[in-house]
Amino acid sequence: MYDFIIIGAGVIGSSVAKELSRYQAKTLCLEKENDVANVQSLANSAIIHAGHNPEPGSLKATLSILGNKMYDDWEKELNIPLLRTGAFVAAHNKKEEKIIDELLDITKKNEVPEYMILTGDEARKIEPNLAKSITKVLSLPTTKVTYPWEVAFACMENAIINGVEFLKNKKVTAIKKQADFFEIEVNHQEIYQTKYVINAAGVASDDIGGMIETPPFKIKARKGEYFVLDRRVKGFMNHVLYPLPSERGKGVLITPQVHGNILLGPSSEYIDDKYEARTTDEGLAYIKKHSVELADDIPFNMIIRSFAGIRSTSTCDDFYIKESKNHKGFYYLGGIESPGLTAAPAIGPYLVNDVMNVGSEFNLNSKYDPKREPRLEFHRLPWEKQKQLLNDDHLYGRIVCKCEKITEKEIIDAIHGPLGSHSIKGIKKRVRAGAGLCQGGYCEEKIIKIIARELNVSPLDVEYDDLQSKLFKEETKVDE
Ligand SMILES: Cc1cc2nc3c(=O)[nH]c(=O)nc-3n(C[C@H](O)[C@H](O)[C@H](O)COP(=O)(O)OP(=O)(O)OC[C@H]3O[C@@H](n4cnc5c(N)ncnc54)[C@H](O)[C@@H]3O)c2cc1C
Repeated sequence: MYDFIIIGAGVIGSSVAKELSRYQAKTLCLEKENDVANVQSLANSAIIHAGHNPEPGSLKATLSILGNKMYDDWEKELNIPLLRTGAFVAAHNKKEEKIIDELLDITKKNEVPEYMILTGDEARKIEPNLAKSITKVLSLPTTKVTYPWEVAFACMENAIINGVEFLKNKKVTAIKKQADFFEIEVNHQEIYQTKYVINAAGVASDDIGGMIETPPFKIKARKGEYFVLDRRVKGFMNHVLYPLPSERGKGVLITPQVHGNILLGPSSEYIDDKYEARTTDEGLAYIKKHSVELADDIPFNMIIRSFAGIRSTSTCDDFYIKESKNHKGFYYLGGIESPGLTAAPAIGPYLVNDVMNVGSEFNLNSKYDPKREPRLEFHRLPWEKQKQLLNDDHLYGRIVCKCEKITEKEIIDAIHGPLGSHSIKGIKKRVRAGAGLCQGGYCEEKIIKIIARELNVSPLDVEYDDLQSKLFKEETKVDE
């Protein structure tokens, strides 16, 4: 019998797992995918927002503003990468300038630090590629950018070190409430028992709730599509650029990324099938049309990829972080759309301490370690350190991904690490092998061979992403 079962290992389930690991409790996290952070927490803008538009007093405002500050601690404790970009919210005419004044009011009420109002010319001195049509800017220096799935990895790795169990490829298929515990059915076959359930299933959080009651909200999924520009565009824009927000969200943004790439997007389209995350001609055309309103001469010739993410917008306006009214011990983390990534560091402690009051039933884990070791990035190390590592292991000298300069040893560590991955996409998420200009064109075949060798399986068994995504059907040429 577990004390806690968390359903879903995105940034939110992982933040909850980390917070629960502070207590002497038996905690399990079940994830339907073959990796942490494979859904919403994978495909988003990666921005740690400053707080210029959530409704003052709402959970979105309170937790995201606290979360933004907590990322500075997480950077040190968990070695999460942060790029302190700052952000500009742009207006183009007198009508839009009035909306900037309204946003300024919200910014003040939310006690966002260090904000400023700049004229278009003042802002262009800082960002020369800002569109000439922009007349006024709300500057938000505390905005930063992270590597979203690294946030989830860091939390889950830390939770595992502190005693939490994590199981992937475990889809929750039914939940039964017994007298004073829950039975969680997984993959239609296994049963796990637990005293408390934490539903952190993102776009599926209403379906998970629907397994025991009429859920208190419905997810109205909203797709967001993006273009990725190659990291050779680094410096084209150093701030996050926002247009004015609308009822469809924060609009099409220009967002520098931690590794030098720039994202253009997202679009915003309500969709019926919340698991359908393919890009569309219309969505990508929408991004091109609107991104040019923010910057002149965008290097569209540097696009290396497009992708889409699905927002878990809900019928509640705010995050829904509450116990079920009908089933004591069942907790919802619903409607955690943007600014959910920003709020993630604050959501775990808010649920565990303020809503669940876990400390009243469980003692603190005296062995709790808040730290997580950084991932080694060989090409960023000084030559002396590189030489030392090369002496220890010659596989640091074998570069597999030439675009991102990733060595064979780093790939092997990603396969066997604490949250090791056996898929091409999982390796890419961990060490960026295949994330560069050629998008894996040159290195994927080598990575497949390394995975097969390390796991002692056939290349036919290597997956691109989930269990259904085998890369090859059969061998057509066999070496004698
Ligand atoms: C286009 C877009 C842009 C965004 N931009 C930003 C931004 O810049 N800044 C920001 O702060 N926020 C942003 N967000 C919001 C942010 O990404 C989310 O708030 C956050 O990722 C939510 O995390 P989560 O863990 O709740 O959801 P998810 O990451 O979706 O995790 C839920 C997990 O539950 C699992 N699951 C579902 N059903 C089951 C089941 N039956 N059994 C087991 N597991 C299950 C899923 O596989 C998934 O891994 C954006 C979101 C989108 C889509």
